[in-house]
Amino acid sequence: MTDRAKISVHKFASCDGCQLAFLNAGEQLLTLARLVDIVHFAEAGMIAPGEPVDIAFVEGSISTPDHLDRIRDIRERSRFLVTIGACATAGGVQALRNLANGGEWVAGVYASPSYIESLATSTPIARHVKVDLELWGCPVNTRQVMTAIRDLLSGVTPVADEDKVCMECKRTQAVCVMVAKGIACMGPVTRTGCGAICPRFGRDCYACYGPAENVNAESLGRRLEGLGLLPEAVARRFLFINNAAPVFADAGRRYRDE
Ligand code: SF4
Ligand code: SF4
Repeated sequence: MTDRAKISVHKFASCDGCQLAFLNAGEQLLTLARLVDIVHFAEAGMIAPGEPVDIAFVEGSISTPDHLDRIRDIRERSRFLVTIGACATAGGVQALRNLANGGEWVAGVYASPSYIESLATSTPIARHVKVDLELWGCPVNTRQVMTAIRDLLSGVTPVADEDKVCMECKRTQAVCVMVAKGIACMGPVTRTGCGAICPRFGRDCYACYGPAENVNAESLGRRLEGLGLLPEAVARRFLFINNAAPVFADAGRRYRDE
């Protein structure tokens, strides 16, 4: 037995990519082992979902009736609950079904759709239980989860990265792909945290880190139309991985209705 803090990592509807922020942490795994005991993390082999913990990390969105019961149980047994990734914080790519008739999709794909226990919508964790900290990204990175663990266990209020990817481009001296190449980029409305990795490799940001502070969707939408995108294409830029984030959802619907 140790007096280290206990953490757990849970999966809901997701691709498992955010859990790699722990598994691929490299040398930081040694630091993690000094800071905490991981009591439940199915992908890493530890199975004790009912164990009370100091911090529960939750990946994935709520997509089935079983998810609803499980997330309430986790909340009751956790001092802090932290969502990791676009799926858990804003629905993820599977929330695209919220914009369509999910039942029709299931019937179109499966021979016996009655076997599929699926809710009509895919929703972020915060719609169902109190969330203490949201880590955005698809996927999140090791720096984000390590900072969250240190802050929460030290009694420090975590500071959210809300700056825009554009600011990160300036800080890293990346050439703006929209200005220099005329590429439609979501960086002006997307929160930083990734190090502006896409523009630094010469491609557009597709907003996987979700909405930044003070989003001016109308202004960016006009710019994207100026670059040749039709309203439906602009709508799709907002209604993508983080389509359940209210500011993106509103902007996307506005363009879809045009
Ligand atoms: S946020 Fe992205 S990387 Fe993380 S689980 Fe969802 S789809 Fe996978
Ligand atoms: S630049 Fe945009 S799309 Fe690329 S990783 Fe960062 S937030 Fe995601």
